[in-house]
Amino acid sequence: MKKKIVEVSTSRDVSEKSSETGTAQRSDLVVWSGGCDSTLIVCQLASKMEKGKILETITVKHHQVSTEKLRMEAISRERMAIFIKAKYGVTIRQTIVCIHSNGNMSPSIGENPQATIWLAAVIPYLTSHLNIHFGYIKDDYGRKGKADFIKTFGHMAEYRDLKDVKIVFDLERMDKKTVLKELSDLEVPDNCMWWCEYPKADPEGYVSTDLFTSCGKCEPCVTHNGGGEVASMLR
Ligand SMILES: [Zn+2]
Repeated sequence: MKKKIVEVSTSRDVSEKSSETGTAQRSDLVVWSGGCDSTLIVCQLASKMEKGKILETITVKHHQVSTEKLRMEAISRERMAIFIKAKYGVTIRQTIVCIHSNGNMSPSIGENPQATIWLAAVIPYLTSHLNIHFGYIKDDYGRKGKADFIKTFGHMAEYRDLKDVKIVFDLERMDKKTVLKELSDLEVPDNCMWWCEYPKADPEGYVSTDLFTSCGKCEPCVTHNGGGEVASMLR
């Protein structure tokens, strides 16, 4: 029987698998935007690693997201890398895929383009014998659903002749509140993450190192209760 190229599991399955003897050396790669969910995965993995090790991450910088948001995500990831290094002695290595477009066309909105951008952008950077971690949480697989996401990923991995790639949905059983609680338990400072879609200039210079502040109105801001509750949970 043909061996499956892509398997799917939770993080628990992966740790069980890695304790087996005789299996190929596997590596981890976190698809990391700098939002709460993928940042939690980065922190969880780093907390289980030996000091001096490197955790690989990949980010997609695409103009579908506002320049301000991209900037704040980048700042947040840098802060997180410093936090992880200080707390766990693990180095976060970032690969940032930049997709530029200077034509008249933009990705359409409302047909799940974001997931396709990330899928298409990360595939060329993958290796065989890899655990690739996606920060999807409960009910968060995009419009097409989990099965279609896995199927699409599998076809692309097959086209690349990749072997033994495991998609890990570490957080698929968590809701946002649980993610925030886990981040709080790991003592992740709230300025190590960014979620607002439309950051606005910070007129009062409240945080002098930040260029922008959350709008408080976009969907992620509302989901995260305008930042106030999140900030208080994380401090
Ligand atoms: Zn916002």
